[in-house]
Amino acid sequence: MNEDKTRTRRTFRPAPLVFFALLFLFWDLAISSSPYASPPSPTTRPARSTPTLHKIHHNTPTKTSKTTTPPNSKDTTEQASHLLASLFKGDDEFLRTHPSPYFQRFCDQQTPEITLVMCSDSRVHETLFHSDPNNHIFTVRNIGNQMLTAMGSVDYGVLHLKTPLLIIMGHTHCGAIHAAMNPYEGEPIPIISELDHLFSPLKPLLQNKGKRTPHALWTLGVEHNVDYQVQIAARRYQKQILAKKLHILGIIDDIANIYGYGFGRIVLTNINGETRLQALRQHPLVRHYTEATKKFHIYRPRSAHTPSLSPLPQTPTTQHNTLTPHKTHH
Ligand SMILES: [Zn+2]
Repeated sequence: MNEDKTRTRRTFRPAPLVFFALLFLFWDLAISSSPYASPPSPTTRPARSTPTLHKIHHNTPTKTSKTTTPPNSKDTTEQASHLLASLFKGDDEFLRTHPSPYFQRFCDQQTPEITLVMCSDSRVHETLFHSDPNNHIFTVRNIGNQMLTAMGSVDYGVLHLKTPLLIIMGHTHCGAIHAAMNPYEGEPIPIISELDHLFSPLKPLLQNKGKRTPHALWTLGVEHNVDYQVQIAARRYQKQILAKKLHILGIIDDIANIYGYGFGRIVLTNINGETRLQALRQHPLVRHYTEATKKFHIYRPRSAHTPSLSPLPQTPTTQHNTLTPHKTHH
């Protein structure tokens, strides 16, 4: 037996070389054909060095979130089939607990109370703060919870459906903000176009990083962006705000517990452009709330807010005018 084995190895001496050559070839093909080959090491990183939104979510080290392996993109037919089956099953289960009368209440006309502009991130949904968003929340979603790239949809909620509340909701660990604060030239043109719209709120941070860590800058970017989007909305719907037919809220969903009030806590940071903590907690909108609610849900995470737009004009007829942040309350 030993002699046979020895003979065999001597006979096929080139085998190891062939094996390693095939292994290298297979590895190279696997890396180059899959956009989700992760995590890319410095030696196997694809030619495009710009981090994609997907990679940002999975490669950015965090203390709290677990990284997950992205799905294999070679042939997702079987996976998609299973997903579709789960959708059908989920719908069946929902209909069992929500029979016809549930839908008949609103099937002819929607009457939402909230227009919500939020990030498309899969970790953030309306169900974080509303048990049943159907017919209650008119939602507009895009990367980075932006106004300018979705103005028509927001107009539809505010001007056509006339919701009394417009909420701009950002979230901590936002991949869009991270992408916009780093080189993204390698992204497809439509993604570049949307990220470009985030440049205005992030520009002051990028030009004055100071001694802040990249993670602190990232969180500040989320906060600045929410303020910026609220300012755009406050300008556009100034007439409705002054008539007290609309209130605009800036909210951050702290999915990463950056502020220490719990994972997934929603934090109010802006009312119609008002960003000072004391003024927020004394605002007429929340004056009846308990101190505990105010403590956990009304918070101004950073004081280094840099307005990107000039304040809106003050009107003498408005007693609680919150459109001019530095002239109201106190
Ligand atoms: Zn996001």
